[in-house]
Amino acid sequence: MTVQCCQCKKVRTNGQWIDASEALTGRVSHSYCPTCSDAMLAEIDQQRAREAMGSRPAIEAT
Ligand SMILES: [Zn+2]
Repeated sequence: MTVQCCQCKKVRTNGQWIDASEALTGRVSHSYCPTCSDAMLAEIDQQRAREAMGSRPAIEAT
């Protein structure tokens, strides 16, 4: 089964992520390549940091 990054459209082949310009055939599973996965996690971290700074203090647990 082919795994394609749904972000940058690269395809995993033999453990490597390469640009696939040709049409994919067969079953395709969409995932994130390491590059896009890291970028997405970094984005989430930044978003959480912004929210943490902008939000009111959380209710303290007693
Ligand atoms: Zn990607």
